[in-house]
Amino acid sequence: MVPDADGVLFRQLTNGWVPCNILVGRDGTVLFSENEFDEAGYTKAIAGLYREPVEQQPAAKSAERSILRRASFKAARIVILGGGTGGLVAAYHLRRRLAREHRVVLIDRLPDHLFSSSLLWLMVGQRQDHQIRRPLGRLADQGVEFHRDDIEEIDLGRKVVRTRSRTFDFDYLVVSLGAQLAPDTVAGFDDMAYNLYDLEGSKRIHAALEAFSGGSIGVFIPSMPFKCPAAPYEAAFLVEAFCRKRRIRDKAEIHLFTPEHQPMPVAGAAVGEAIAGMLGARGIHYHPLYTFEKLRPERREIVASNGSATQVDLLLGVPPHRAPEVVRSSGLVGISGWIHADPQTLRTEHEGVFAIGDITSIRLPNGKMLPKAGVFAHAEAKVVAAQIASEVGGHQPRASFDGNGSCWIELGDGKAGFASGRFYAEPDPHVRMFPPGRLWHWGKVTFEQWWLHHWF
Ligand SMILES: Cc1cc2nc3c(=O)[nH]c(=O)nc-3n(C[C@H](O)[C@H](O)[C@H](O)COP(=O)(O)OP(=O)(O)OC[C@H]3O[C@@H](n4cnc5c(N)ncnc54)[C@H](O)[C@@H]3O)c2cc1C
Repeated sequence: MVPDADGVLFRQLTNGWVPCNILVGRDGTVLFSENEFDEAGYTKAIAGLYREPVEQQPAAKSAERSILRRASFKAARIVILGGGTGGLVAAYHLRRRLAREHRVVLIDRLPDHLFSSSLLWLMVGQRQDHQIRRPLGRLADQGVEFHRDDIEEIDLGRKVVRTRSRTFDFDYLVVSLGAQLAPDTVAGFDDMAYNLYDLEGSKRIHAALEAFSGGSIGVFIPSMPFKCPAAPYEAAFLVEAFCRKRRIRDKAEIHLFTPEHQPMPVAGAAVGEAIAGMLGARGIHYHPLYTFEKLRPERREIVASNGSATQVDLLLGVPPHRAPEVVRSSGLVGISGWIHADPQTLRTEHEGVFAIGDITSIRLPNGKMLPKAGVFAHAEAKVVAAQIASEVGGHQPRASFDGNGSCWIELGDGKAGFASGRFYAEPDPHVRMFPPGRLWHWGKVTFEQWWLHHWF
């Protein structure tokens, strides 16, 4: 037991949330810190303690890391798994960079690409479902072969991907399968909470808000990590503005329960304080360091590990995240339960295999993890497309991901804040929060419209 009353160790070793398991090896090095939600990762780390050599989280490596192949291809086969943010951008840029004799195949189980950021507007009735989706089949016009199917196996040895109906050989594989939402791992979630992070859940929240005439509303985050660190905060702000517009704000109590010690912990104290201040100014009850224990649907209660229970009439939940089953069974995931990719090149340890977006676990220079967010999936996809195109053409790949990213924080009333920063900065990410205003809101709307037109 190590006393840590002033929280120095806590801030150094965690992503800013509790509970946190940290496993220290015999030589005193940290083998595993539960920055990521994954029981399998923890079990694997314990097993690793008793095995030699001990598997370790990769340290941030430079772009100079081994360039695995330089031979040019006559007809390369590039398979992209997932048609979300990262997969879509990778397919688009690869197709633009490569001549038509090279195949670019994109596989997703869903027929449509969904622009997830807009789910929050949909939730408060400012968007409809058809406005924020685009058919992936349209990519055929650009020469991307889209296959709608469940991906069932990634065979790294044979360089083959198997879907329910077909197999695809690849020379290059881009894994962008995102994070699987696991509401089923929280007993009572389906009975008591709405899934804030998917299309159906957002539609149901909208219907529930329309019918809401007063009472308590909770936004809750049971575990880390979760994608888009700003989204639950934006949800609380939008719900608060919705209630005001409906003239029921005085009858509504709004709570936000999170295991984080501040909003967006990786972005640093100043950003956290700014967002916490905005919550306070709007009368939103903020419960940081909330160690979620369970839901009691029969009493409509959310219960913390210290036994305290809060009654909520309407509960919006961020389900636990984990790597999709097909990735977990592929041998691609590391000790974190996610894929460890090179921070600059997004290469995995398997030749010709890249991983981007939410499925990755990228360690920052300060030991914390790069947040899971579309802005990073987008930039990483461009880097990977450039890397592969160079290699296919027989050139030395030079593209490198710089770890820069930004996000809008929607506040309701047609206003938003904006945070932007360098996440690979040393010793800590350098993130700046700009004062909120209408301009940032319109920036977010413009980006949404650009996204939904540019790729399709
Ligand atoms: C409400 C909300 C708001 C958000 N707002 C923002 C924001 O403002 N800014 C920001 O940067 N990020 C935001 N994000 C996060 C952003 O959407 C994700 O970080 C981003 O989409 C990750 O991209 P990805 O390609 O890694 O995964 P995804 O976009 O999740 O794509 C994964 C794809 O893989 C497919 N797939 C998975 N498993 C299989 C399988 N076995 N077979 C076939 N297909 C499969 C899925 O169908 C999916 O299409 C938000 C997310 C949510 C939920």
